[in-house]
Amino acid sequence: MANDIQDRDEQATTAAAANTSQPLPKGVVLGKDGKPCRSCTAGADFAAWTSQAKTMTALSTGKPVPAVKKRRDCPPDVVALGRSSWTLLHSIAATYPEKPTPSEQSDVISFMKLFSKLYPCWVCAEDFQEYIERKQIKAGSRDEFGNWLCEAHNGVNKKLGKKTFDCSRWLERWRDGWKDGSCD
Ligand SMILES: Cc1cc2nc3c(=O)[nH]c(=O)nc-3n(C[C@H](O)[C@H](O)[C@H](O)COP(=O)(O)OP(=O)(O)OC[C@H]3O[C@@H](n4cnc5c(N)ncnc54)[C@H](O)[C@@H]3O)c2cc1C
Repeated sequence: MANDIQDRDEQATTAAAANTSQPLPKGVVLGKDGKPCRSCTAGADFAAWTSQAKTMTALSTGKPVPAVKKRRDCPPDVVALGRSSWTLLHSIAATYPEKPTPSEQSDVISFMKLFSKLYPCWVCAEDFQEYIERKQIKAGSRDEFGNWLCEAHNGVNKKLGKKTFDCSRWLERWRDGWKDGSCD
Protein backbone atom coordinates (compact mmCIF):
# COMPACT_ATOMS: atom_id res chain seq x y z
CA MET A 1 0.00 0.00 0.00
CA ALA A 2 2.71 2.45 1.07
CA ASN A 3 4.72 1.44 -1.99
CA ASP A 4 1.69 1.99 -4.23
CA ILE A 5 1.35 5.51 -2.90
CA GLN A 6 5.06 6.13 -3.34
CA ASP A 7 4.92 4.77 -6.92
CA ARG A 8 1.96 7.00 -7.73
CA ASP A 9 3.67 10.01 -6.16
CA GLU A 10 6.77 9.33 -8.26
CA GLN A 11 4.66 8.95 -11.40
CA ALA A 12 2.87 12.22 -10.67
CA THR A 13 6.15 13.95 -9.97
CA THR A 14 7.71 12.65 -13.17
CA ALA A 15 4.62 13.46 -15.19
CA ALA A 16 4.47 16.98 -13.81
CA ALA A 17 8.13 17.51 -14.62
CA ALA A 18 7.69 16.13 -18.13
CA ASN A 19 4.69 18.36 -18.77
CA THR A 20 6.44 21.54 -17.81
CA SER A 21 8.19 23.84 -20.20
CA GLN A 22 10.78 24.51 -17.48
CA PRO A 23 14.29 23.79 -18.73
CA LEU A 24 16.07 20.95 -16.94
CA PRO A 25 18.58 22.08 -14.31
CA LYS A 26 22.18 22.30 -15.58
CA GLY A 27 24.04 18.98 -15.64
CA VAL A 28 20.97 16.73 -15.76
CA VAL A 29 21.46 14.06 -18.44
CA LEU A 30 18.43 12.38 -19.95
CA GLY A 31 18.29 8.61 -20.24
CA LYS A 32 17.34 6.82 -23.44
CA ASP A 33 13.75 6.72 -22.09
CA GLY A 34 13.69 10.53 -22.13
CA LYS A 35 13.66 10.78 -18.32
CA PRO A 36 16.49 12.19 -16.20
CA CYS A 37 19.16 9.50 -15.78
CA ARG A 38 20.40 9.34 -12.19
CA SER A 39 23.45 7.18 -13.00
CA CYS A 40 24.49 9.69 -15.69
CA THR A 41 24.07 12.79 -13.50
CA ALA A 42 25.87 14.20 -10.43
CA GLY A 43 23.79 13.89 -7.24
CA ALA A 44 23.37 17.65 -6.65
CA ASP A 45 22.14 18.20 -10.22
CA PHE A 46 19.70 15.28 -9.93
CA ALA A 47 18.43 16.70 -6.61
CA ALA A 48 17.86 20.07 -8.31
CA TRP A 49 15.67 18.25 -10.84
CA THR A 50 13.64 16.33 -8.21
CA SER A 51 13.14 19.59 -6.32
CA GLN A 52 11.92 21.29 -9.51
CA ALA A 53 9.62 18.35 -10.23
CA LYS A 54 8.15 18.50 -6.71
CA THR A 55 7.46 22.22 -7.10
CA MET A 56 5.65 21.54 -10.37
CA THR A 57 3.62 18.74 -8.72
CA ALA A 58 2.66 21.06 -5.86
CA LEU A 59 1.62 23.76 -8.33
CA SER A 60 -0.42 21.41 -10.51
CA THR A 61 -2.17 19.56 -7.66
CA GLY A 62 -2.44 22.49 -5.27
CA LYS A 63 -1.02 20.24 -2.53
CA PRO A 64 2.50 20.55 -1.15
CA VAL A 65 4.71 17.47 -1.59
CA PRO A 66 5.55 16.29 1.95
CA ALA A 67 9.19 16.61 3.00
CA VAL A 68 10.94 13.25 3.48
CA LYS A 69 14.06 12.66 5.58
CA LYS A 70 17.01 11.95 3.23
CA ARG A 71 18.55 8.46 3.37
CA ARG A 72 22.10 7.44 2.57
CA ASP A 73 21.30 4.12 0.86
CA CYS A 74 20.03 5.59 -2.41
CA PRO A 75 20.74 4.59 -6.02
CA PRO A 76 24.19 5.78 -7.16
CA ASP A 77 24.79 8.96 -9.09
CA VAL A 78 27.44 9.18 -11.83
CA VAL A 79 30.17 9.90 -9.24
CA ALA A 80 29.44 7.02 -6.84
CA LEU A 81 28.96 4.63 -9.73
CA GLY A 82 32.24 5.74 -11.33
CA ARG A 83 34.29 5.49 -8.13
CA SER A 84 33.03 1.98 -7.36
CA SER A 85 33.48 0.86 -10.95
CA TRP A 86 37.09 2.08 -11.17
CA THR A 87 37.78 0.31 -7.86
CA LEU A 88 36.50 -2.94 -9.34
CA LEU A 89 38.35 -2.52 -12.66
CA HIS A 90 41.73 -1.56 -11.15
CA SER A 91 41.37 -4.36 -8.58
CA ILE A 92 40.80 -6.84 -11.41
CA ALA A 93 43.99 -5.52 -13.05
CA ALA A 94 45.86 -5.78 -9.73
CA THR A 95 45.00 -9.47 -9.39
CA TYR A 96 45.37 -10.30 -13.11
CA PRO A 97 48.17 -12.84 -13.69
CA GLU A 98 51.66 -11.61 -14.52
CA LYS A 99 51.76 -14.25 -17.24
CA PRO A 100 48.14 -14.82 -18.33
CA THR A 101 47.17 -17.77 -20.50
CA PRO A 102 45.57 -17.04 -23.90
CA SER A 103 42.20 -17.92 -22.34
CA GLU A 104 42.71 -15.48 -19.42
CA GLN A 105 43.66 -12.76 -21.90
CA SER A 106 40.60 -13.42 -23.99
CA ASP A 107 38.38 -13.43 -20.84
CA VAL A 108 39.58 -10.02 -19.65
CA ILE A 109 39.23 -8.50 -23.12
CA SER A 110 35.68 -9.89 -23.44
CA PHE A 111 34.87 -8.63 -19.94
CA MET A 112 36.04 -5.09 -20.74
CA LYS A 113 34.09 -5.01 -24.00
CA LEU A 114 30.90 -6.21 -22.28
CA PHE A 115 31.49 -3.84 -19.36
CA SER A 116 31.71 -0.93 -21.79
CA LYS A 117 28.37 -1.95 -23.33
CA LEU A 118 26.54 -2.56 -20.05
CA TYR A 119 27.86 0.42 -18.08
CA PRO A 120 24.76 2.07 -16.54
CA CYS A 121 25.70 5.66 -17.51
CA TRP A 122 24.98 5.51 -21.24
CA VAL A 123 26.95 8.64 -22.18
CA CYS A 124 29.98 7.30 -20.28
CA ALA A 125 29.49 3.88 -21.91
CA GLU A 126 29.39 5.26 -25.44
CA ASP A 127 32.59 7.26 -24.92
CA PHE A 128 34.30 4.27 -23.31
CA GLN A 129 33.33 1.98 -26.21
CA GLU A 130 34.76 4.54 -28.60
CA TYR A 131 37.98 4.67 -26.51
CA ILE A 132 38.29 0.86 -26.63
CA GLU A 133 37.93 0.97 -30.41
CA ARG A 134 40.68 3.60 -30.71
CA LYS A 135 43.06 2.16 -28.09
CA GLN A 136 43.03 -1.60 -28.35
CA ILE A 137 42.87 -3.37 -24.96
CA LYS A 138 46.32 -4.68 -23.97
CA ALA A 139 46.19 -7.75 -21.75
CA GLY A 140 49.48 -9.61 -22.40
CA SER A 141 50.52 -9.27 -18.73
CA ARG A 142 49.38 -7.67 -15.44
CA ASP A 143 51.63 -4.71 -16.11
CA GLU A 144 50.33 -4.27 -19.65
CA PHE A 145 46.66 -4.46 -18.64
CA GLY A 146 47.12 -2.27 -15.55
CA ASN A 147 48.84 0.42 -17.62
CA TRP A 148 46.24 0.23 -20.38
CA LEU A 149 43.48 0.68 -17.79
CA CYS A 150 45.33 3.53 -16.08
CA GLU A 151 45.61 5.34 -19.43
CA ALA A 152 41.93 4.66 -20.12
CA HIS A 153 41.01 6.15 -16.72
CA ASN A 154 43.26 9.13 -17.46
CA GLY A 155 41.34 9.59 -20.73
CA VAL A 156 38.15 10.04 -18.67
CA ASN A 157 39.99 12.26 -16.15
CA LYS A 158 41.08 14.55 -19.00
CA LYS A 159 37.58 14.65 -20.46
CA LEU A 160 36.24 15.74 -17.06
CA GLY A 161 38.99 18.35 -16.58
CA LYS A 162 40.59 16.40 -13.69
CA LYS A 163 44.28 15.87 -12.92
CA THR A 164 45.79 12.80 -14.56
CA PHE A 165 47.24 9.98 -12.46
CA ASP A 166 50.91 8.95 -12.64
CA CYS A 167 50.57 5.48 -14.17
CA SER A 168 54.00 4.38 -12.91
CA ARG A 169 52.25 4.19 -9.49
CA TRP A 170 49.13 2.21 -10.37
CA LEU A 171 50.40 -0.93 -8.57
CA GLU A 172 51.08 1.07 -5.40
CA ARG A 173 47.56 2.54 -5.55
CA TRP A 174 45.71 -0.69 -6.35
CA ARG A 175 47.83 -3.65 -5.17
CA ASP A 176 50.85 -3.04 -2.93
CA GLY A 177 49.98 0.17 -1.05
CA TRP A 178 52.10 3.36 -1.16
CA LYS A 179 55.86 2.92 -0.80
CA ASP A 180 55.92 5.19 2.30
CA GLY A 181 54.02 2.50 4.25
CA SER A 182 50.91 4.65 4.71
CA CYS A 183 48.61 1.77 3.76
CA ASP A 184 50.33 -0.85 5.97
C1 LIG B 1 34.36 3.59 -17.75
C2 LIG B 1 33.96 4.86 -17.05
C3 LIG B 1 33.60 5.97 -17.78
C4 LIG B 1 33.19 7.15 -17.14
N1 LIG B 1 32.78 8.22 -17.89
C5 LIG B 1 32.31 9.33 -17.27
C6 LIG B 1 31.79 10.41 -18.02
O1 LIG B 1 31.74 10.38 -19.25
N2 LIG B 1 31.29 11.49 -17.33
C7 LIG B 1 31.31 11.55 -15.95
O2 LIG B 1 30.86 12.54 -15.36
N3 LIG B 1 31.82 10.53 -15.23
C8 LIG B 1 32.31 9.43 -15.85
N4 LIG B 1 32.81 8.40 -15.10
C9 LIG B 1 32.97 8.57 -13.64
C10 LIG B 1 34.30 9.31 -13.34
O3 LIG B 1 35.39 8.71 -14.03
C11 LIG B 1 34.65 9.29 -11.84
O4 LIG B 1 34.60 7.96 -11.35
C12 LIG B 1 33.77 10.16 -10.97
O5 LIG B 1 33.76 11.47 -11.48
C13 LIG B 1 34.30 10.20 -9.51
O6 LIG B 1 35.60 10.73 -9.56
P1 LIG B 1 36.63 10.73 -8.37
O7 LIG B 1 37.30 12.06 -8.41
O8 LIG B 1 36.00 10.29 -7.11
O9 LIG B 1 37.75 9.65 -8.73
P2 LIG B 1 37.73 8.47 -9.77
O10 LIG B 1 38.04 9.00 -11.13
O11 LIG B 1 36.48 7.67 -9.60
O12 LIG B 1 38.99 7.61 -9.29
C14 LIG B 1 38.96 6.84 -8.10
C15 LIG B 1 40.39 6.77 -7.58
O13 LIG B 1 41.20 6.14 -8.56
C16 LIG B 1 42.52 6.69 -8.55
N5 LIG B 1 42.82 7.09 -9.92
C17 LIG B 1 42.50 8.23 -10.57
N6 LIG B 1 42.92 8.18 -11.83
C18 LIG B 1 43.51 6.98 -11.99
C19 LIG B 1 44.15 6.34 -13.09
N7 LIG B 1 44.29 6.93 -14.27
N8 LIG B 1 44.64 5.10 -12.90
C20 LIG B 1 44.55 4.49 -11.70
N9 LIG B 1 43.96 5.02 -10.64
C21 LIG B 1 43.45 6.28 -10.78
C22 LIG B 1 42.52 7.83 -7.58
O14 LIG B 1 43.13 7.40 -6.38
C23 LIG B 1 41.04 8.12 -7.37
O15 LIG B 1 40.77 8.62 -6.09
C24 LIG B 1 33.18 7.21 -15.72
C25 LIG B 1 33.56 6.06 -14.98
C26 LIG B 1 33.91 4.91 -15.63
C27 LIG B 1 34.27 3.67 -14.81
